[in-house]
Amino acid sequence: YQAKATGAGSVFYTQSLADDLHRRQRVSDRFKLALESDMFHLVFQPQVRLEGGSFEGCEVLIRWRDEELGAVPPSEFIPIAEELGLITKLGEWVLSQTCRHMSDWAARGLSVPGRVAINISAQELMSSGYVANLEDTVASFGCDPSAFELEITEHGLMQDILAGKEILNELEDLGFRIAIDDFGTGYSSLSYVKHFSADQLKIDLSFVRDMMVDPASNAIVAATIAMAEKLGMQSVAEGVETKEQADALKAMNCPIAQGYYYSRPLDAQDFEDTWLIPANGTT
Ligand code: C2E
Ligand code: MG
Ligand code: MG
Ligand code: MG
Repeated sequence: YQAKATGAGSVFYTQSLADDLHRRQRVSDRFKLALESDMFHLVFQPQVRLEGGSFEGCEVLIRWRDEELGAVPPSEFIPIAEELGLITKLGEWVLSQTCRHMSDWAARGLSVPGRVAINISAQELMSSGYVANLEDTVASFGCDPSAFELEITEHGLMQDILAGKEILNELEDLGFRIAIDDFGTGYSSLSYVKHFSADQLKIDLSFVRDMMVDPASNAIVAATIAMAEKLGMQSVAEGVETKEQADALKAMNCPIAQGYYYSRPLDAQDFEDTWLIPANGTT
């Protein structure tokens, strides 16, 4: 009986592994096509100041709706893009599209206050010529480096600390801002934080999600905010979904928040209509 149950389990396991591989192959194939034919778009999620609620900037997130697969989340296709060696090309697309939106808004007297944050994969950051390309692209759209923030995951930075540090320094010298994303999930020693002079520390949404029910998560959030402040970094709480979370974060002196409680990520037109106000107040 036992053996039979185990046998059935392994058949099931083999089947689901095969399904996973099949899905991965399908996503890879469709991804290559999507990249050739410009099938992605960007969404924008505002960041707000917890005290007073002012609009302080936004994060750019990529979206892909495939004709055959439907919506494929970035958590699924970004690792595939990395594996295929296509993340640099995808990153260039994200950057130039972001610049295109920003210069289009600027031409119409609209702008994002603070910074526009873009996610950068570690593989992209470490690729040769990355900094020069970034600089050229931003300049070619007439954008200013200081309008951008580059979000790099803590995990990504830990892969090659010395190289990462050198590139971040180059980027900062050019005026780009740096954010450490998903802070708390990278299995790194806290002492590594001091190697990276980042402007922002983004507290991973898993801690924010659990902070009202799990004392350990609550303590980690509070400690991260206090540490960031002492190190001269601005903390951003990711994934804020409720007023209770917002109030608790405010009580911990967290300066900035981002999450569904304030706004879902919005497509360019909705973002413009809802959050971008003409500087001179006319239309
Ligand atoms: P991330 O940079 O940590 O982005 C935050 C994620 O949390 C986004 O998921 C966002 O849609 C989601 N989110 C925002 N507010 C809430 C909330 O209140 N509750 C919950 N549950 N989730 C919230 P998304 O867009 O699916 O992106 C997932 C990850 O994929 C990102 O995590 C980032 O690591 C990566 N990614 C997204 N866009 C890009 C891109 O253009 N380039 C690169 N290299 N990576 C990207
Ligand atoms: Mg991010
Ligand atoms: Mg994050
Ligand atoms: Mg993340």
